[in-house]
Amino acid sequence: MASESGLPESELPESELTEHLKRRIAVEGPVSVASFMGDALGHPKFGYYITADRFGAAGDFITAPEISQMFGELIGLWCAHTWAAMGSPERMNLVELGPGRGTLMRDALRATAMLPPFREALRVHMVETSPVLRARQGEMLASALQGGEPVWHDSLATVPDGPLLVIANEFFDALPIRQFEKTPHGWTERLVDVDPESGNFRIILDRRPGPVEALIPARVRISPVGSVFEICPAATAIARDLGARLAASGGTAVIVDYGHPRSAAGETLQGVRRHAFVPVLDDPGAADLTAHVDFEMLADAAKAGGAGAWGPVTQGSFLASLGIRERAAQLRQRATPKQAADIDAAVQRLIGETEMGTLFKVLALTGPGQEAPAGFESLAQP
Ligand code: SAH
Repeated sequence: MASESGLPESELPESELTEHLKRRIAVEGPVSVASFMGDALGHPKFGYYITADRFGAAGDFITAPEISQMFGELIGLWCAHTWAAMGSPERMNLVELGPGRGTLMRDALRATAMLPPFREALRVHMVETSPVLRARQGEMLASALQGGEPVWHDSLATVPDGPLLVIANEFFDALPIRQFEKTPHGWTERLVDVDPESGNFRIILDRRPGPVEALIPARVRISPVGSVFEICPAATAIARDLGARLAASGGTAVIVDYGHPRSAAGETLQGVRRHAFVPVLDDPGAADLTAHVDFEMLADAAKAGGAGAWGPVTQGSFLASLGIRERAAQLRQRATPKQAADIDAAVQRLIGETEMGTLFKVLALTGPGQEAPAGFESLAQP
């Protein structure tokens, strides 16, 4: 394949991240898939999210808030509703995990601008590791916050105490996963090393004995030989922290992502570049790597931290119950025929069963004794 420079890919100099990972493997031996993925996305100098803004039609992928303003608006109104249902606390930390370009937060703040008591209670916190994206978020929110700045954090740990509203859209799918494979001798971890012949990264199986079986849920352990199971230790740790924070201070989190409602075998790690799938190991740092979110594991971790977990429900049913069709009808009234067609296409994309509506799911976490959040009323108390 020809590259942008006109050279065949095989003759291009290796990226700095590829060199770094090969050096690491030469020194440390094979690394876990999580370690490879963590460097590919988050290496402090060469990581995929660290070096550039990858979003939108001209970038590698598009997310719900980038598809339509309606997504952030509805989440913003959901936040205001949740705040009111909590008795309108005087101070509320609105925290977004992995805010990307900041589009969701901008739209959420704009949609709630006509609710001054809610807005006055808010303190906006952005948990974001990428300096490039922090800068984008700052620009995006400048007018919404009337010159005020959000507070940025590397992790939830530094967000001050107090009631919380937490939003995470397509955040958990970007956290590094470990992969395990069932062999005739039991489960072993998949590792990444360098093929001595081709010089390319490849997947190998860990031959060292280790306590792997305990990491696989009993239901999954009996899968046939060749099955793959993925776990995301960072997601579990963050969900447990979040659960503990919500249990201590009250509040609600809404987690939107693509994934499966229950832990299950299946290989889901994928690479995406310029809106097309690419091999995961080919050019680390140049493609987005994501994996399906295991919502059962997230819910269990949050419950272990002390929170209630609701759902997941599908993104389609969540957005429909928040009124996306009504909002679209409202926007259509002031739209040109072309804009009206775009609005309809966006609704279809966000809630259509064969698009994001079913694959994407929404999990809510609440502090003790809180009622069902909007969009989850039909579910039993957890
Ligand atoms: N929520 C946005 C972006 C999703 S992409 C949207 O819907 O458009 C994932 C985001 O998470 C990016 O902003 C990325 O820089 C950030 N991110 C990835 N790993 C992170 C980590 N460990 N801690 C904080 N932010 C992280």
